[in-house]
Amino acid sequence: MEACLAVQREVEKILTKFRSIDEHTQRTLGQLISDVQSIRDELSGVPENAELPATQVILLTQLSKRVKEIAGRIGLEHKDLHSSVSKVGKSIDRNFVSDFGAVVSDPTFEGPEKRSQLNAVICEHFLRQGMLDTAEQLIRDANFSLEKTQKEPFLELHRILEALKKRDLFPALRWAELNREKLKQQNSLLEFKLHRLLFISLISHGIEKQSEALNYARNFGPFAQSHSKELQILMGSLLYLKQGIHNSPYSHLLDPIHWADICDIFTRDACSLLGLSVESPLAVSIRAGCMALPPLLNIKQVMQQRQCSGVWSAKDELPVEIDLGSECRYHSVFACPILRQQSTENNPPVRLLCGHVISRDALNKLANGNKLKCPYCPLQQTSTSARTIVF
Ligand SMILES: [Zn+2]
Repeated sequence: MEACLAVQREVEKILTKFRSIDEHTQRTLGQLISDVQSIRDELSGVPENAELPATQVILLTQLSKRVKEIAGRIGLEHKDLHSSVSKVGKSIDRNFVSDFGAVVSDPTFEGPEKRSQLNAVICEHFLRQGMLDTAEQLIRDANFSLEKTQKEPFLELHRILEALKKRDLFPALRWAELNREKLKQQNSLLEFKLHRLLFISLISHGIEKQSEALNYARNFGPFAQSHSKELQILMGSLLYLKQGIHNSPYSHLLDPIHWADICDIFTRDACSLLGLSVESPLAVSIRAGCMALPPLLNIKQVMQQRQCSGVWSAKDELPVEIDLGSECRYHSVFACPILRQQSTENNPPVRLLCGHVISRDALNKLANGNKLKCPYCPLQQTSTSARTIVF
């Protein structure tokens, strides 16, 4: 969209220029034509073979000079307009980069297997978003199948989330109770938070739901030890039922942010229980790609200009470091300070006896037989004493 607006601005500029030049040209040419016309009329009055009066000769030379001058100026303006028009083309090239192929390895999405993987990823994204019909349509169009068991968790997740958004806590509570043990293992606060929110929604009705709220408080039994502080606050709020919680020191309990929080907590815990990432992998990939593409295209262009495009031949490795921000950091990576390469399974980082870490390949290159001198501190050691490091 930004690219469209940028090009539109350029086009507007040209159109304004067009209009002003057009108006200016029409006016000057009109004036010139009428001048030529009038002098022609005057000349037609002079008898043939008679000498022209001096004033007319001067007028005529002046006019011919002006005609030449104006024709030259209009020519220049026209030329200038041409260069402005060609700028629009450049602006389109600049704003709409179509050659993304330069930054991806060619067969990324080729072949039936990769294509079906891509389709499955897109389909999973639609299911995550609750766009069931779109996912079904894609399955039909792309002619691939998705097991019901693959679909079911997403559908359930989405159903519960939709209910939570409508402030219906029961489906989520049922789910949390069913998965209590597993949730406990991952230190989830989900069940407690759901009960807490249900209790809050009861006390928000004031004195009329007092007995119901007191009854409901029994559900806090299993959490008495782990959440004693929060339970004290909840019980304290009961004192203010008569005057209304919103008029009490406990009004923060009614903050709508708790409802947004519970959706986040549920999504995070349910996804981790199902072995899914919290965010859609497709959405994350696209976001990361959008951030990384402009610098990659820039560097590619610089490489082509300096004729060193061969430098970036390994497409699974980036030629420059691209910072996608802290939310896109998932795990640590190690880049060998000697070979300046990211470590891989075949070339893992190794810790030398002195504590310095380099990659296995670098170690093999530096070792002289079994002898090794650390490239950072000159400690002599044996290469077999180096230990592989796992992050
Ligand atoms: Zn060292």
